[in-house]
Amino acid sequence: MLTFKTLLNHAQPIPGFVYEQAEFLNDGKDARIDVVIRAHAQIRPKCSECQRACPGYDRLPARCWSQVSTWKILCFYHYAPRRVDCPEHGIVVEQMPWNDGKRRMTIGMMAFLAMWARRMSWLETARAFKVSWESVFRSVEWTVRWGLKHRVLEGVKALGIDDLHWGRAGFLTLIYQIDDGSRRLLWIGQKRTQATLMTGLDTLGPAVISGVEYVCSDMWRPYLNVIGKRIAHALHVLDRFHIASHLNGAVDEVRRGEMSRLNAAGKTTASMLKKMRWPLLKNRCRVLGRARKRLNTLIFSKLATARAWILKDTFQHFWTYHSVGHASRFLDAWCQRAMRSRLPPMKKVARMLRRHQPLILNWFRAKGALSSGAVEGLNNKIRVTTRRAYGFRTFNALEVALYHSLGKLPEPPRTHRFC
Ligand SMILES: [Zn+2]
Repeated sequence: MLTFKTLLNHAQPIPGFVYEQAEFLNDGKDARIDVVIRAHAQIRPKCSECQRACPGYDRLPARCWSQVSTWKILCFYHYAPRRVDCPEHGIVVEQMPWNDGKRRMTIGMMAFLAMWARRMSWLETARAFKVSWESVFRSVEWTVRWGLKHRVLEGVKALGIDDLHWGRAGFLTLIYQIDDGSRRLLWIGQKRTQATLMTGLDTLGPAVISGVEYVCSDMWRPYLNVIGKRIAHALHVLDRFHIASHLNGAVDEVRRGEMSRLNAAGKTTASMLKKMRWPLLKNRCRVLGRARKRLNTLIFSKLATARAWILKDTFQHFWTYHSVGHASRFLDAWCQRAMRSRLPPMKKVARMLRRHQPLILNWFRAKGALSSGAVEGLNNKIRVTTRRAYGFRTFNALEVALYHSLGKLPEPPRTHRFC
């Protein structure tokens, strides 16, 4: 008959150690298997610092680790670690292949939970494998820390710098790699100040920063300052996605202002603006059905919102140019028109675009080296992760979750056959 020991040796072989005994306990509520491990009699213990075989020193009290459950039966390892006398590191605890530091889960268990936490929410993972949310979080955190320590940051040519509004804590700063073929989250920090971005760039290190050829960002002043100082050798491009969102914001501001004005005056035209927020923000060709009809009626009206929308829509043409000269003339003409529009939010955007004209025109100097959707795509994925996240009330948990899902981090080598 197949023994449990055979299964353990298949799933998680541990060189230098022996599965001595396994006991099945069932108190009616939770069934569990307790596995007792002992050291191999003929193999000397190893130092946990340098992995060299050393003479034994003494033995510590027994510890317990939770291991991946089998058929929903919880599984625990029990072992009393020895201490060794290492000529280099002194008296230290021995190396145990299933253990990392003082953690109460085996490495195999942590890798297993982290793998599932990528496919399901952390809460679902915790429920499915009968562990606490905290255990799932610790497992993902362990995987992420390992990945951050071992990731390779060579060949980063294009950086995207983005901010994200996050709960009550305010803003986060995100640094992405946006090269074709390698798009990932490189760094995340709290707030969106100069100090935040500076810390992020320092973390990536001077070798990475000196290799950067393109930086893509929003018109946020603290970012512009830091980029101008620290990544001045790269071509700085103002991101198309961010410019579009400023234009959309302005159209919406005009609509809201006009709607409350018309409502206050008791005008029936106010109804034309009702529930038009999304149709006005989308590309016209993406608005379908009745909303499209209402949008068309609105656009051909004499309302201020219509003029704002037309200005926004006209700006799309800007991105179709190939020459910097032509694009620059278009931008001038557009800004002039916006300044005469008598629409303060549109004038504000025009002033902003004028102020940053050289950086905006760098888009055409980059000549297709940057994909317009890269920052937007990562930004959307981040929003999905933060929205799906249960219990990410602390920055630490959010940080771990984002690196886990978007950092493309390397994974620790497998010492087991669970996943
Ligand atoms: Zn040692």
